[in-house]
Amino acid sequence: MILFDYHTHTNFSDANYGFDELLEELKKTDIKIIGITDHFEKNLMQSVKVSKSEYEKAFGVFRDKCFDCGITAVLGAEVGMKEKEFLPSDNLPDVSYIIASFHQMPEKGSMTEKEYWEYYMNVVEYGLKNFRFDIIGHIEGYMPVAPFMHEEASFDERRSTEKLFAKKYFSLDWYEKISKIMHDRNIAIEIHGGSKSPRIEVLSVMKKNNVKFSFGSDTHSLVQLKKHREYFDYAVKELDLKETDFIKLGGEVCRK
Ligand SMILES: [Zn+2]
Ligand SMILES: [Zn+2]
Repeated sequence: MILFDYHTHTNFSDANYGFDELLEELKKTDIKIIGITDHFEKNLMQSVKVSKSEYEKAFGVFRDKCFDCGITAVLGAEVGMKEKEFLPSDNLPDVSYIIASFHQMPEKGSMTEKEYWEYYMNVVEYGLKNFRFDIIGHIEGYMPVAPFMHEEASFDERRSTEKLFAKKYFSLDWYEKISKIMHDRNIAIEIHGGSKSPRIEVLSVMKKNNVKFSFGSDTHSLVQLKKHREYFDYAVKELDLKETDFIKLGGEVCRK
């Protein structure tokens, strides 16, 4: 069992618990390396509001408490991008790593469905080629499917709709192409627990091209810390992923 999680939030951004509550929950799990990646993104409502120093201080207290419990806490950040622009906020702390995720898709307007998803892919591809970060977050999860859904669509409905679009537009040839860029630029692919993505066949392309893997539960409420590991455990088994297949942050990736 691989005992890390490189993508979690706190109530400094949009999770519903603080550092102390997270630590209490961590003690009930086998997780030995915890990556904290609150949103530090320009023009994103849920982005961290406090200053860099205030945030670093709060994280420092958490890191020390974790250490006393045998848990390594690593500070990261989740940063967004848009067309040809990377969006770290001005209060971005001194982080050990950055997850880049695409959160700010423009209005669909007159774009066709195909144009809309091609736009999405182009932003991601441009980011992979040009921006400095360590992990591409939820590349085909938490996709901006709202324009194609009824307003009350549930979390699960959104997830199944995004899977259809990913399959339809994000071809394995595209993944072949971007996996080479990722390998060259040392960017890991995130296995995203919250959306159970990317598809196994995508992860398989990444493995073939020696792209490193990351795992992130993207926890925003404490029950997700365990619940969002299901797809990760499945993917590790399915692809026979080894410790060396993962990006290393904050020490050795632990195993039981
Ligand atoms: Zn995100
Ligand atoms: Zn996140």
